[in-house]
Amino acid sequence: MSDVVALLRAALGDAVSTEAAALDALRSDKSGQRTDAPPLALIEARSVEHVQRALRIAHEHRVPVVPRGAGTGLSGGAMAGAGELVLSTAAMARIRQIDAVDQLAVVEPGVLNGDLNRALASQGLRWAPDPASRDISTVGGNIATNAGGLLCAKYGVTREAVRGLDVVLADGTLLRTGHRTVKGVTGLDLTALLIGSEGTLGVIVGATLALTPIPPGEVATIAAYFPSIEEAAAASAAITAARLRPAVMELVDPIALAAILRHLGMPAAAPGSAHLLVQTDGSAAAGEAAEALAIITARGGAASLTLDPQEGEALLAVRRAMHPAMEQLGPVLIEDVAVPRSRLPEMFAAIRAIGDRYGMLIPTVAHAGDGNLHPNLVYEGDTVPDRVWQAAGELFEAALALGGTLTGEHGVGTLKRRWLADELGDEQVALQRRIKEAFDPRGILSPGRAI
Ligand SMILES: Cc1cc2nc3c(=O)[nH]c(=O)nc-3n(C[C@H](O)[C@H](O)[C@H](O)COP(=O)(O)OP(=O)(O)OC[C@H]3O[C@@H](n4cnc5c(N)ncnc54)[C@H](O)[C@@H]3O)c2cc1C
Repeated sequence: MSDVVALLRAALGDAVSTEAAALDALRSDKSGQRTDAPPLALIEARSVEHVQRALRIAHEHRVPVVPRGAGTGLSGGAMAGAGELVLSTAAMARIRQIDAVDQLAVVEPGVLNGDLNRALASQGLRWAPDPASRDISTVGGNIATNAGGLLCAKYGVTREAVRGLDVVLADGTLLRTGHRTVKGVTGLDLTALLIGSEGTLGVIVGATLALTPIPPGEVATIAAYFPSIEEAAAASAAITAARLRPAVMELVDPIALAAILRHLGMPAAAPGSAHLLVQTDGSAAAGEAAEALAIITARGGAASLTLDPQEGEALLAVRRAMHPAMEQLGPVLIEDVAVPRSRLPEMFAAIRAIGDRYGMLIPTVAHAGDGNLHPNLVYEGDTVPDRVWQAAGELFEAALALGGTLTGEHGVGTLKRRWLADELGDEQVALQRRIKEAFDPRGILSPGRAI
């Protein structure tokens, strides 16, 4: 193995690091989990050629390689352990082109989502995927995880916002997939296959992104409170059923709401209160908000509406404070199931029943516009205890029974692999592994992750 590091050093010079603190940081991502030992070396690629050289050497010597962006993942996909190399694309962070006419951007994978969007804003454009981590996560990582966010029910997840990719395969071959055109159906859609592949099929070294105009017009924001989370979830499902399309529609259960308000130093809500936050935008914002407000109040919600963008942002700050509020509670396993939107009340009821059965608080928020829930399982100690995994397993079963999925946006990574066949079935898992073999016959890219 040390021979491989020596070969990498000869080929890549100071882009290769074996510094102990740097390697130790690569043992974890933001999932709160950690591998047993540090990886062999970190390769901080600065060019496509660097990525190709590194992969040619790793391929020849059959050494596993874990691609990494900013390491903000929540599923353990970028965590690396003994005998593995980490190939970071974080330093490849140039915006190569912004084409305001065709509404495209061509970027390197390490550019931060927030930096890209700040560069686009002056031209009235944006790249729609808006993970809450947008200021700290890379476009390459967003693509590799098919990231979502608050706005994606209306504006789509990452897959809808990528036209083409430059990818280096496991043997060092550079491949260009997709196109710059709006339409394009030549051959199999490898771009779509690579999006969300969590580093298992290739290393993304460039992306052609579809941009959208920042919607003109007003923003209307509704903050509503209900006596229970099931009632709040039923109101959000009714808003969807009424064919309204809020840009943001978020649910916060009573346990999460109490923790957030405490964290922000705000007055507590009535005991048991659940929160529904709705934001409409574009030219129909005010009319849609009025309709949503009528649905909420007819269903017993206490609600207020504002057309002031700053007041709206202040109301959204409550939801945005979820992650820091959870960090105050101790180590947290952040889960990510999704169900059809009409089944949200049942899923919240299932989460509460699981929490009661295990004697555990499970503060939960949900992107109600797309049915994606984030139950947070709080635990004590350095690693997730078995009973917390058992409770998580019951959450997955409940979501699948409601016609849902194990992961809406965080990915399978290392943490959810054991439940993969429960959702996909053995035949589909076997087919996915054959597809992986076609891309990576020696199995060096992120082995043991995602598929
Ligand atoms: C506070 C917080 C809020 C979050 N909110 C959201 C949210 O709202 N929505 C959401 O979807 N996620 C969210 N996340 C999770 C995380 O930020 C996303 O998964 C993000 O897309 C990861 O990007 P990254 O650059 O950090 O990638 P990493 O964590 O470094 O890697 C993630 C995965 O992508 C692979 N990968 C990274 N770069 C490449 C590349 N160049 N080529 C091939 N594979 C690559 C890695 O191998 C790994 O499997 C949040 C995380 C935090 C900490």
